[in-house]
Amino acid sequence: MRFDILTLFPEMFQGFLGTSIIKRAQQQGIVETNLINFRDFATDKHHTVDDTPYGGGGGMVLKPEPLFRAVESLLEEGKEKPPILLMSPQGATLTQKKAEELAQHSHLILLCGHYEGYDERIRTHLVTEEISIGDYVLTGGELPAMIVVDSVSRLLPGVLGNDSSAVTDSFSTGLLEYPHYTRPADFEGLKVPDILLSGHHQNIETWRRQQALTRTWEKRPDLLETAPLTEEDRNFLQGLARKQRS
Ligand code: SAM
Repeated sequence: MRFDILTLFPEMFQGFLGTSIIKRAQQQGIVETNLINFRDFATDKHHTVDDTPYGGGGGMVLKPEPLFRAVESLLEEGKEKPPILLMSPQGATLTQKKAEELAQHSHLILLCGHYEGYDERIRTHLVTEEISIGDYVLTGGELPAMIVVDSVSRLLPGVLGNDSSAVTDSFSTGLLEYPHYTRPADFEGLKVPDILLSGHHQNIETWRRQQALTRTWEKRPDLLETAPLTEEDRNFLQGLARKQRS
């Protein structure tokens, strides 16, 4: 997977790209990241990337030319155009499903806005999609871009030490994930559930599924409306509801 990240502040990515799992994914050649400062594509003497808005108002607006030129320099002739993602609080909110969809591509271009915003022609004629990381406004698209790179990279085969971890993660199954425990089995009187020490895989699987259902029911009941549920799951949830009523 190749990520081309267009930003005015490439230095913000150093810690993120140079640490832990994302660093290793690059060393292993599973992930390639290119930081492109689109100021380099401004042609005037001062390398101007922003200007005041037509019609007045506060803040500076990113000009179209540097971003259009920077993106054009990344497109390869004869190859399918990759998704060009604009980080924007006005986009659809990033979900695990969206990350899974993006992970199917081999090349993504991410545009990080800054200042008051960007010229509307960038949205209408350059990008293929706007992505938001939530209903709040940040100073720039760099943190959202890191979140996209992180959430997509960990889904690529070989990035996580154990590929099954991503499969059971919260949201991947449509539910929140079951609780985890590790050694010691008894921490100051707080005991690990017996079932996890039993070595009985089938019972452990059933317990985990029921824990995932219980957590989702308690914390995010909205997810149950779309989660793929078996007959057994539904019976278990009905049992929880009955218990709550009694
Ligand atoms: N004036 C814009 C508006 O009201 O929609 C907000 C601009 S914000 C201060 C500057 C840049 O930060 C945006 O262009 C975008 O790239 C990024 N940004 C801010 N909040 C974001 C969010 N929740 N998700 C994704 N990107 C965001």
